[in-house]
Amino acid sequence: MFEKVLIANRGEIALRIHRACKEMGISTVAVHSTADADAMHVRLADEAVCIGPPPSKDSYLNIQAILSAATITGADAIHPGYGFLSENANFAEMVEEHGFTFIGPTPEHIRMMGDKITAKRIAEETGMPVVPGSKGSVDSVADALAIGEEFGYPVIVKATAGGGGRGMQLVRNPGEMEVNWKTARTEALAAFGNADVYIEKFLTKPRHIEIQVLCDTHGNAVHVGERDCSLQRRNQKVLEEAPSPALNEAQRKEIGETVADAMRKMKYRGVGTVEFLYENGEFFFIEMNTRLQVEHPISEMISGLDLAREQIRVASGAPLGYTQDDIKFQGHSIECRINAEDPENFMPCPGKITDYHAPGGLSVRVDSALYSGYSVPPHYDSMIAKLIVHGNNRNECLMRLRRALGEYVIGGIKTSIPLHQKLLENADFINGDYDIKWLEKFVGLTD
Ligand code: ADP
Repeated sequence: MFEKVLIANRGEIALRIHRACKEMGISTVAVHSTADADAMHVRLADEAVCIGPPPSKDSYLNIQAILSAATITGADAIHPGYGFLSENANFAEMVEEHGFTFIGPTPEHIRMMGDKITAKRIAEETGMPVVPGSKGSVDSVADALAIGEEFGYPVIVKATAGGGGRGMQLVRNPGEMEVNWKTARTEALAAFGNADVYIEKFLTKPRHIEIQVLCDTHGNAVHVGERDCSLQRRNQKVLEEAPSPALNEAQRKEIGETVADAMRKMKYRGVGTVEFLYENGEFFFIEMNTRLQVEHPISEMISGLDLAREQIRVASGAPLGYTQDDIKFQGHSIECRINAEDPENFMPCPGKITDYHAPGGLSVRVDSALYSGYSVPPHYDSMIAKLIVHGNNRNECLMRLRRALGEYVIGGIKTSIPLHQKLLENADFINGDYDIKWLEKFVGLTD
């Protein structure tokens, strides 16, 4: 097992990884920007190294500075967390070239899944259901029109290098194709430096359902159930739950086994998430995230697994040591992402936390790096806390969340707590009756 792990991240996920390491007897190295000198992950880590000024490109994305910090502190391994360098194949490669273990998949797997056309081809080859559409990139208007004809409108044009919902254009009829195909290419080139696009059938009322996987380096792979992340605003998840209110036991088992089997065929290692759109009882692969995700705690709550620990264990070469049948799901879990933002207009709201009181009690978990007196810096993501509850069933989670949100005090800044409170009073949400478009209507973004 590793003796020292460098955590190449900040905020709650840096703390989450630190906690997993400490419980395993591993010492930790925090890296931080000058804006994060007082951050909780820096205070708790065994050692801390400042790696640059506030802008991410000069600190949390500064590969040379991070590798130097790992060298001078004598770390054995680097955990990238999520965001920042976590899905940067070049970084993973450089980490390994410098003799450290990258706590994540191989650079090849990261690269493969980062290119959406390749990812979709591999998904199909390994037996996962994909959205019907073009076989590869669509390089002319004539080809685009032919695809539209073949699969039927509406279709969606998507950037092969895409991410964060950018470079996507809906095409409702042949008359819209030329302009929207060109717009998608222009956007893709501007955002990702690669104009290639592909085309898929557009699903009108899907849910976003993703499968958590966990694989070792000995060919073993298990799934840790699904998460329903349909509640999104501008492609950002707001609240997630496990299991999905839309699936039954048989569907869960079938898609889970399909995905675990695909991971074995791919020889994937570490944790990962395979994202699907789900409509009328069918799953359609959209992408795979090759890292630990923000919403991983809800899968931990229903499975009893510590996914961060498992990730570190398998990265050190340890075998899983259990099979699919050993994983038993119990109850229900919901996570609310709490952002430092105005709950009405969603404007970021960084600033000093004057009072802080986190909720507690039975089956309530708060993953956050906040404390009273801490200043939320304006330079990074606005997510400041995750409130996670577990219950014997969904209704118990809803009761517990209402209670816990009411107890949560984050003074001095505006947060999205009131949005979650409003959501928890809504009949559609209470009934589990929502798709990926629902939240934007609820917050008045679309009608
Ligand atoms: P990104 O990597 O940019 O997030 P995804 O492929 O994951 O791109 O798609 C982002 C979101 O766009 C999905 O969560 C879904 O809301 C929507 N979307 C993508 N493909 C389709 C599709 N074929 N039909 C309907 N909606 C889609």
